[in-house]
Amino acid sequence: MAKPAPARTPDRHGRFGPYGGRYVPETLIPALDELESGFAKAWRDKGFTGEFRRLLADFVGRPSPLTFAAKLSKETGRKVYLKREDLNHTGAHKINNALGQVLLAKRLGKKRIIAETGAGQHGVATATACALIGLKCRIYMGTEDMRRQAPNVFRMRLLGSEVVGVDSGTHTLKDAVNEALRDWVANVTDTHYCLGTAYGPHPFPLICRTFQAVIGQEARKQILKAEGRLPDALLACVGGGSNAIGLFHAFMKDATVRMFGVEAGGRGAQLGDHAARFDGGRPGVFQGAATWILQDDAGQIQGTHSVSAGLDYAAVGPEHAFLRDLGRAEYLRCSDTEALKAMHRLAETEGIIPALESSHALGRLDTVCERLKKGGIVIVNVSGRGDKDVAEVARIEGVAL
Ligand SMILES: *Cc1c(COP(=O)(O)O)cnc(C)c1O
Repeated sequence: MAKPAPARTPDRHGRFGPYGGRYVPETLIPALDELESGFAKAWRDKGFTGEFRRLLADFVGRPSPLTFAAKLSKETGRKVYLKREDLNHTGAHKINNALGQVLLAKRLGKKRIIAETGAGQHGVATATACALIGLKCRIYMGTEDMRRQAPNVFRMRLLGSEVVGVDSGTHTLKDAVNEALRDWVANVTDTHYCLGTAYGPHPFPLICRTFQAVIGQEARKQILKAEGRLPDALLACVGGGSNAIGLFHAFMKDATVRMFGVEAGGRGAQLGDHAARFDGGRPGVFQGAATWILQDDAGQIQGTHSVSAGLDYAAVGPEHAFLRDLGRAEYLRCSDTEALKAMHRLAETEGIIPALESSHALGRLDTVCERLKKGGIVIVNVSGRGDKDVAEVARIEGVAL
């Protein structure tokens, strides 16, 4: 039996136990208050939730299937099901949150959306939602990431968004987040900051979880229909933590359902070589929230490495830190090499090329299966498709395209 579900979270201060909160400049507090009450109102309004559900169905293509993986099941001796977020429009789960937030911004009368992106997946999802809903969009991206993810930069521009390169720090995601926060402080009355994962100051982790919870709500219904019972385990990769919390949330009170999150183990255990916050980090404060962070003894944020850009972040969503303290969820790490192997395995056994991020969850499938009884049921979240990664994987494996 897993530990009992936590009490209702976050509390009214935006806390998940000791984590979360609002570590931001004072000037942003009114905007966060407005966002919190505006979101609560919208979520009680059938007009808003109806429109959100309609777009998830007609635009994103939900519900995403729950695919029984026959060969992996045979190999592991457990029943393996795949939640197919890779089949969503734009190729990953990120569109669920981006659509919800842009819809909310429009309702709150905002004229302009800003967002940050690392690999470009959240940027593309936000640019897509802004094109659909009709709001102006500016996306901040580190110049190093722009170089590495040139096709996604072009996609965002095709979708009518402005992409602004950030040339400070390490020229990557954390610098883009800083720049987006700066823009938001200056333009808060007419601008919504569409944050891409279950992170940041309250109410962002709550909003993102609420929009992503559709993943677990669907999976719960689908597995009950397919197997007549709940799964024994859920398995998902954890960058900021949104696809994992989206799958986990609907099962939180089901004490028999164990939850496993997988962080990026990168190329080794040394600080700087991975993004496994729970296995090399310590509690601290970063970009608006208290949580587990990769930092040095002076509290300075450390560089991270992962083969998958979407998991390459120095902090983890505050709710995951809380679930780990409670023992409600367990966190594992998966190295670059193991993730690449898992990508090949799913492609060859099931005909699905997963994103490198999702491959980290798949890379711990055997570990999780060994902890379940024979015939046990596990649902793996295939958070995105691997098309975006094939060129990078070919490069790593020394294959000329
Ligand atoms: C961004 C991304 C992730 C990591 O983000 P979470 O917020 O942890 O879900 C995982 N998978 C894919 C495909 C992504 O694009």
